[in-house]
Amino acid sequence: MSFDVEAIRREFPALHQEVHGRPLVYLDSAASSMKPEAVIEALTRFYRRDYSNVHRGVHALSQRATEAFEGARKAVAAFLSAGEDEVVFTRGTTEALNLVAQAWGGKVLGPGDEVVLSEMEHHSQIVPWQMACERHGATLRVLRIDERGAIAEGEIERKIGPRTKVVAIVHTSNALGTVNDVRRIAEVTRAVSKDAVVVVDGAQATPHGPIDPRALGADFFAFSGHKMFAPTGIGVLWGKRERLAEMPPWQGGGDMIRSVSFEGTTYADPPSRFEAGTPAIGEAIGLGAAVRWMMGLDWAAVADHEDALLAYGHARLSEVKGLRLTGTAERKKAVMAFAIDGVHPHDLGTLVDLEGIAVRVGHHCAEPVMKRFGVPATTRASLALYSTRAEIDRLVQAIDKAVAILR
Ligand code: PLP
Repeated sequence: MSFDVEAIRREFPALHQEVHGRPLVYLDSAASSMKPEAVIEALTRFYRRDYSNVHRGVHALSQRATEAFEGARKAVAAFLSAGEDEVVFTRGTTEALNLVAQAWGGKVLGPGDEVVLSEMEHHSQIVPWQMACERHGATLRVLRIDERGAIAEGEIERKIGPRTKVVAIVHTSNALGTVNDVRRIAEVTRAVSKDAVVVVDGAQATPHGPIDPRALGADFFAFSGHKMFAPTGIGVLWGKRERLAEMPPWQGGGDMIRSVSFEGTTYADPPSRFEAGTPAIGEAIGLGAAVRWMMGLDWAAVADHEDALLAYGHARLSEVKGLRLTGTAERKKAVMAFAIDGVHPHDLGTLVDLEGIAVRVGHHCAEPVMKRFGVPATTRASLALYSTRAEIDRLVQAIDKAVAILR
């Protein structure tokens, strides 16, 4: 198989529109990706034909809906080379990480224990673990990053130790693009602390192809559907079977129980134990459609396309006078974040929008990264498999025009 970006683009209707009278250039896929026809059709089919609540119904529509919903779990499991019982549906990465921080954190953390995370984590990893540490008297330790945006030499060995109970690490940073060597971090963790778990934020990893979290050395792996061509409101917590079995529930309600009485309640096995209440049925079915669609692609060819585009983007952006890239790590994916001398990112974002170009400006929910690089905010152009060189050329042209106005 090979990769034809124009053929892929034809599958994404939203890419083909004008914004402010100019053809749209969508360079904000790290925030949320566009959706292919396959996903839109799956959603429409569900709501037009198969709609019903799942699991408890005996009627035909409920059975159809349940089949489609559980079929989505099966598809996600295949995408992760995992078991279906290891796939917990959540609202997204944020909810998945809060689930682990509350349920696992509540089970294992106490005074003297340490949670290690990196300086490049998204707030959705930092804040739940900070809250868990405050609640249970544990200590947060931070893996500092170097000037290129990679974890600094020696930090992993220095900070992960026998007191470590949790290592919470982002696979691919949304603010820098850095891809962390999760496997090595997991190996170091296992060597020094036998009962520590590795919790991976995979939100920016799964839009770039199937992934095997067990082979990565993860105990838990979280991601969001909306960043990988699926609807909003659905995400996944993958947990190693043996970890999920040990983890207590976090939210109580329907579907997560085995039996309820006023004398006491017993809980269902995973994944149901962690899915209280009516789930996001249509959204899960949309996620199933997205991963099936993704699994039909040649990911080696997609990676070649995306990596060549990133290198091209770096080269073109470096031509802009006074532009400084934040995040130039050797292992990097799909994100180009930068600051330009004398230009406020919000002004730049507004002017390039008038040229039909969507980029994101701000702290990208990674304030410690901004602090590390001494900037209040950056401009971020992010790529997906449907991005093109011509779009990067349009971006650079628009930046040049904006800078001439703003300086
Ligand atoms: N982690 C990373 C690296 C992200 O980029 C994001 C979203 O921007 C999140 C976590 C949070 O994802 P969500 O808002 O879908 O829960």
